[in-house]
Amino acid sequence: MGLTSRSTGMGILNETLALGSKEADEFIIALAGNPNVGKSTIFNSLTGMKQHTGNWPGKTVTNARGKYRHKDKSFILVDIPGTYSLMASSVEEAVARDFICFGEPDTTVVITDATCLERNLNLVLQTLEITGNVVVCVNLVDEAERKKIRVDLEKLGARLGVPVVGASARSGRGLNELMDAVYRAVLQGSVNKPMTIEYDSVIEEAVRMVEPRVREIAKNKVNSRWAALKLIEGDKSILESLREMTGIDLINDTILVNRLAAAGKYLYDNNIHGDSLRDSIVSRIVSLAEEIAREVVTCENQRYHTRDRKIDSVLTSRRYGLPAMIALLGLVFWLTVTGANYPSDIIAVFLFWIEERLTELFRWAGSPLWLHGLMVKGMYRTLAWVVSVMLPPMAIFFPLFTILEDLGYLPRVAFNMDNFFKKAHAHGKQALTMCMGFGCNAAGIIGCRIIDSPRERLIAIITNNFVPCNGRFPTLIAISTIFIGGSVSGVPRSVVSTAVVMAVIILGVFMTLLMSRLLSATVLKGLPSSFVLELPPYRKPQIGRILVRSVFDRTLFVLGRAASVAAPAGMVIWVMANVIVGGASLLDHGAGLLEPFARMLGLDGYILMAFILGFPANEIVIPIIIMSYVSTGSLLELDSLEALRQLLVSHGWTWLTAVCVMLFSLMHYPCGTTLWTIRKETQSWKWTVVSFLVPTLTGIIMCFIVAQTVRHLGLL
Ligand code: GDP
Repeated sequence: MGLTSRSTGMGILNETLALGSKEADEFIIALAGNPNVGKSTIFNSLTGMKQHTGNWPGKTVTNARGKYRHKDKSFILVDIPGTYSLMASSVEEAVARDFICFGEPDTTVVITDATCLERNLNLVLQTLEITGNVVVCVNLVDEAERKKIRVDLEKLGARLGVPVVGASARSGRGLNELMDAVYRAVLQGSVNKPMTIEYDSVIEEAVRMVEPRVREIAKNKVNSRWAALKLIEGDKSILESLREMTGIDLINDTILVNRLAAAGKYLYDNNIHGDSLRDSIVSRIVSLAEEIAREVVTCENQRYHTRDRKIDSVLTSRRYGLPAMIALLGLVFWLTVTGANYPSDIIAVFLFWIEERLTELFRWAGSPLWLHGLMVKGMYRTLAWVVSVMLPPMAIFFPLFTILEDLGYLPRVAFNMDNFFKKAHAHGKQALTMCMGFGCNAAGIIGCRIIDSPRERLIAIITNNFVPCNGRFPTLIAISTIFIGGSVSGVPRSVVSTAVVMAVIILGVFMTLLMSRLLSATVLKGLPSSFVLELPPYRKPQIGRILVRSVFDRTLFVLGRAASVAAPAGMVIWVMANVIVGGASLLDHGAGLLEPFARMLGLDGYILMAFILGFPANEIVIPIIIMSYVSTGSLLELDSLEALRQLLVSHGWTWLTAVCVMLFSLMHYPCGTTLWTIRKETQSWKWTVVSFLVPTLTGIIMCFIVAQTVRHLGLL
């Protein structure tokens, strides 16, 4: 049976009223709080019960009630669901709100977490809007002390106008004081002077138009100011709850209906309607919570907080956030591109020197020509290319990227991108899964588990491949360095290469957003759900950890994977290039078959075949292209990047070919591992096929448009 707020809400009430047997000297205490603040611990300590009421739905209502005696009185403690707010936007929130509102508790105890009081104060303030009979318990004080966070309880009490008690429930500290405070609150009547939350003057006026009538009908059954606010906000559930719980029928009261209509019109005339009303109510509470927290919480590590805030005021600001992000990534790529040139040549010279020695060895051993071809010209040469083309950019790029990651910059990237994803009707957390995709798309896909909504998760999965992974980065960097870098005269090579790589990545992010929007407008319709992104503090990067992670976990891992796939692939290519059927090699036949289609996309048959053969791992696409050309071409000396460039030119490469290869590298099917991961994560072949088709078709269309436009405009 589905759980509904009504059924559960009534459940609690009925259960509580069943306490109807409640004696005159028994009091009902509601226990509220955000999840994980120690509510169950307090409940169990006070009632002597052993239970965990963590997740409300599914737990029986009776379990969440227990008795304790303090001094000469009995108290019935009702553990209501842990929630962040009382906006009634989920079952838990509606249940919690209904109980505080209609369960007629003698006092509501709101448990808060001293280590993150600001967030917890939202619930306190919302509770205070419903009832002034509140005792606030600031729990986890021990944890806060360890983190050097101090909460001024007295000041907090004075500010909120209700009793505030500090506690460390796990060790039992403060629980007696809590019981004392509750005792006083219920026995001495309400001495509280709870603060009132004032809203914008227009909203206040609208409340004044409605509140008197609510008070007339509902009497003291509900806080009329709060109910009026909810009513003008359009929260109908409050009316239903009121009727069900107290029998008061506001729905059919014509006077109230008319006043509500008048208030609605008044708000509308003053440019406040629908979502904007709700937004301004929520943001008022949030900013008040912030304000109070600032007054009562001191943190010895404040210096760090202020430092972080200062940095964030630039790195995550509306104006500088994006430019700073692009500049930082640009710097990383520029260092990579500039730095990678030199070692590439040195490594190439060294590895091809070894190739010659290997050839001599094979000759000396008298091995047949085919074996030498297979092992040296096929396998070894491919490996040599993988290493010399990919190792230097990786060895520079990965440590730099890992430093950014270790500094805590990636969540800032997510923060800066959050808005764009919301606009694309996708989840803000998709920015994070996208960042993970820069490392490895398969990891990015698994990371999508952090997105709760299945719709938004699927969007994140399908579009993850639009950002280049470790395996594709070196390809992009190598091509832009080798080929495009020198093509603009007067501008330093490295600047052009960097700009091109940046452009490709920005295009990838743009396509991610565009496709997310398209998907959420078509097959995966819906609106984005909201979430709170916490920015962790900046940390000093640990050089040791960075080196281990970037060298072993990334560079060597990717290189190893590339090499292990490239070695057999190199042999296959060599065989294909050397088995002659009907006057042409298998490779020529295959490439010939693909040629017409590939030409339309600005590629050639060999390139397209390399992408197909590169399905197991993107890392080997470039080596396969090189291998195919070398085995069919006449160029023998390939000991520098310049020689490589000439090889490509001799096979008809122009800057358009390079651009189209980069575009297709950015946008084509995910590699085998990633697709397999998608299948496992979605449990569906359909979505796996969609994830295959979306980037592939996009890439084909994109390359087609670019190639045809350039050719028709005669730009070559
Ligand atoms: P609930 O979700 O609000 O019911 O929270 P729990 O009572 O389940 O507590 C969450 C976690 O916080 C548990 O591991 C508790 O042991 C721990 N905890 C609760 N109160 C305290 C406290 O005062 N200090 C510390 N250090 N841990 C606490």
